[in-house]
Amino acid sequence: MNILVLNSGSSSLKYQLIDLENEEALAKGLAERIGVRTAEGSCLMHEAKGKKPYNVSADMPNHDVAMDVVFQALTDPEAGAIRDICEISAVGHRVVHGGEGFSQPTLITNETLAEIDKCSELAPLHNPPNLAGIRACRRVMPDVPQVAVFDTAFFTPIPKRAYIYALPYNLYKEYGVRRYGFHGTSHRYVTARARKLLAQTGMDVSEIKIVSCHLGNGCSASAVVGGKPIDTSLGMTPAEGLVMGTRGGDMDPAIIPFLMRRLDMTPDDIDNLINKKSGLLGVSGTSSDMRDIEAKAEAGDERAALAFDIFCYRARKYVGAYAAAMGGIDVIVFTGGIGQNSPAVRNGICEGLGFLGAEIDPRKNDGFRGEGSISKDNARVRIMVIPTDEEKMIARETAEVVSDLMASARR
Ligand code: ADP
Repeated sequence: MNILVLNSGSSSLKYQLIDLENEEALAKGLAERIGVRTAEGSCLMHEAKGKKPYNVSADMPNHDVAMDVVFQALTDPEAGAIRDICEISAVGHRVVHGGEGFSQPTLITNETLAEIDKCSELAPLHNPPNLAGIRACRRVMPDVPQVAVFDTAFFTPIPKRAYIYALPYNLYKEYGVRRYGFHGTSHRYVTARARKLLAQTGMDVSEIKIVSCHLGNGCSASAVVGGKPIDTSLGMTPAEGLVMGTRGGDMDPAIIPFLMRRLDMTPDDIDNLINKKSGLLGVSGTSSDMRDIEAKAEAGDERAALAFDIFCYRARKYVGAYAAAMGGIDVIVFTGGIGQNSPAVRNGICEGLGFLGAEIDPRKNDGFRGEGSISKDNARVRIMVIPTDEEKMIARETAEVVSDLMASARR
């Protein structure tokens, strides 16, 4: 069964065609600058397994046209992975916000589309482009089942005390102001993988307490007990919690009205400040990219060193807070571009956590590649690096929905 996994952003379309038999990517690609008028124009970078990379510059004024270009690439006789689009059994769409209504991957129908559209108010930058990708796919493949896999769904079980903000309660009831959490597909994948790897060593994982740290351009931490999340750091929007590339995470909320009055800022200015100009970029003043931050800090740049320090310190506070929330901690998982690749960040976060029983083995941490444990052999807490694979997870969940559909059709 071949599943096409789509992640459709405001000006981009990322995809993977996955053969579910061996969970292997047959092709992957990225269409960029969709609907953006620049001198460079839109382009598609595509690569199928065992074939030469295929890059095309094509006018892509919207997601409909971009989807056509993607299908041409997928079926191209030289660079493609399939002969015909009928070789695609289902499409799994990453959808950022599923509100309170979507707790599971869901088959897309006209009704579910309307419900996802209602969640656009909560994620105005993300859900509309996700919907554009879904509509474009339905147009080209009207008979192929399409499934929405929500970034928020994994966090449905978190208890009320973790998701209700201490604001007037009617803001929750009337406007949906609450914590939803994001990066759910990644946290689900890496915590399930950690449990599987540890179960193989004979460990009882039924109630295992994991803090999972997804550290990429966006960053979040989740507390997961026995596979079920009890708390997570991203909130009503993906702006709360840890320090990120361009987002600052937690701060005193009264800073916002202060800035609005003092600098005459509008809500849009504030949105831009907290989402695009803060975090590593805001503190360092030079880059949102952790590789740059580390290189500059090493070369003596004090602001980059401070950004690095704040990033690690704030993540460490979450590990401590979640250990307290779970009544203990057995595993810390690192994933995402930074979590998977930066020994310095992993070290910076775990520094001083020896009192919890979490101690990194520097010989394992430095230069670690792949998945496995980087903690000292006798340490009570396992510290693990697990590369995330959101596409694989979306493909699996899409296939489950489609199999259930086929089973109920047979009944
Ligand atoms: P996204 O959240 O957009 O999917 P990624 O998960 O790819 O992003 O993470 C991007 C981040 O990972 C960037 O800050 C980048 O600098 C960081 N990163 C990638 N490789 C390394 C590395 N070797 N050392 C430190 N940081 C790295």
